[in-house]
Amino acid sequence: MFNNYFPDFYYNRVEDIDVCFLKENNIKGIIFDMDNTLIDIFNRFSPRLLPWLDSLRRNNIKLIILSNSHFKNKVKKIANKLNLNYLYDAKKPNITGFKLAKESLNLRKNEIAVIGDQIFTDIVGGKKFGVKTILVRPISYLEVPIGLIKRPFEFPIIFAYKHKKSR
Ligand SMILES: [Mg+2]
Repeated sequence: MFNNYFPDFYYNRVEDIDVCFLKENNIKGIIFDMDNTLIDIFNRFSPRLLPWLDSLRRNNIKLIILSNSHFKNKVKKIANKLNLNYLYDAKKPNITGFKLAKESLNLRKNEIAVIGDQIFTDIVGGKKFGVKTILVRPISYLEVPIGLIKRPFEFPIIFAYKHKKSR
């Protein structure tokens, strides 16, 4: 019953996703959510993002942004900064945008992964369309006011999680 809501994979940050992992899973193209996946609520992105995107391109992995934002200029500006193609006003979890993104990538569904921070748009839409799904933690989670209150409680948990993972 809840299977439609479970992502295939989960990562903290997009930049944590290893190229080898993508290759092992036959992922040749990525459909990115934009807000809170690539950029925070102030349109900032990690210094790790551009080198990571470059490493994907060097490995011939095709990339496109599929954003639910209806602010074309905003999506375009970010996409240009990241050197990515883009589609905006996607209305995820509706699959229409995914179809267009797939056409643009020119790959089979089983060669594509969607990466996003929202279960009810990115993951549900991706699963409905039939591509692989990767959930990431929302970047701005710590930046919204409620997040600032949670931050002191969250930090030790994140630290413990990372410590466990690195062992
Ligand atoms: Mg998002």
